[in-house]
Amino acid sequence: MELLTTDKVAKSFGGIQAVRDFTMHIDEGEVIGLIGPNGAGKTTAFNLLTGVYRPTSGTITFAGKSVVGKKPYEITAVGIARTFQNIRLFGDLTVLENVKIACNLHAHYSLAEAVLRVGRYAREEEEIEQRSRELLSLFGLGAKADEYARNLPYGEQRRLEIARALATRPRLLLLDEPAAGMNPQETAELTKLIRRLRDEFELSILLIEHDMGLVMDLCERIYVLDYGKVLATGSPEEIRSNPDVIRAYLGAEV
Ligand code: ATP
Repeated sequence: MELLTTDKVAKSFGGIQAVRDFTMHIDEGEVIGLIGPNGAGKTTAFNLLTGVYRPTSGTITFAGKSVVGKKPYEITAVGIARTFQNIRLFGDLTVLENVKIACNLHAHYSLAEAVLRVGRYAREEEEIEQRSRELLSLFGLGAKADEYARNLPYGEQRRLEIARALATRPRLLLLDEPAAGMNPQETAELTKLIRRLRDEFELSILLIEHDMGLVMDLCERIYVLDYGKVLATGSPEEIRSNPDVIRAYLGAEV
């Protein structure tokens, strides 16, 4: 079943057409790659899907409903979560607190219950704490729960960002260059982790990535953006051997 569909989505900034004619779809459980040269419009596409920008034209449908015009927090609430190219954690909060904050999106207690720390507040806080710790141990961060996020090594900060995104219970996870700055061993672990997430959380995943090894290894289908347009789409094999893609992007890498 199609989870996300975009049709002829466009976004311009003044005279610059950052994204034009962006048409794609993601089925439930798919891992999809979004690749392309620097400035091709990949991050702008993520910002359109997550309500940071409103499309100049075109439609975006998630789980059968239009999400155009929704605010980023509303998009999170319907089930789309993301990570950022430049890690955005709360450095002065602990690892555990970073995840708990994201879980709180789905809390249902009243202000009075929160102030008095009773009723649904107490129950839900306990559940949130437990769920957050489970997520941290899945990401190999259980022993670091009480450390400040800013003190984690880079690769662990990237994993924590994904854990925090998952805490919002998404159906679609958008990862913006998850392997950036990772060494080959960390990248190999990340590849395994992303596969596990898809299987255990029944997630669909869309990832922007320049590490072609990871993209080809992990993705069932790939969209190639160039000058804001979809230049090609297909399986890793099809993309690898597509002359237009080789010319525009892959070049000597293949
Ligand atoms: P990279 O791989 O370098 O991250 P990208 O594919 O993510 O690149 P975008 O960041 O989406 O590309 O940028 C696409 C185009 O839109 C670029 O020409 C960029 O300069 C322009 N652009 C992006 N955001 C804005 C903005 N807020 N205002 C003006 N121009 C922008």
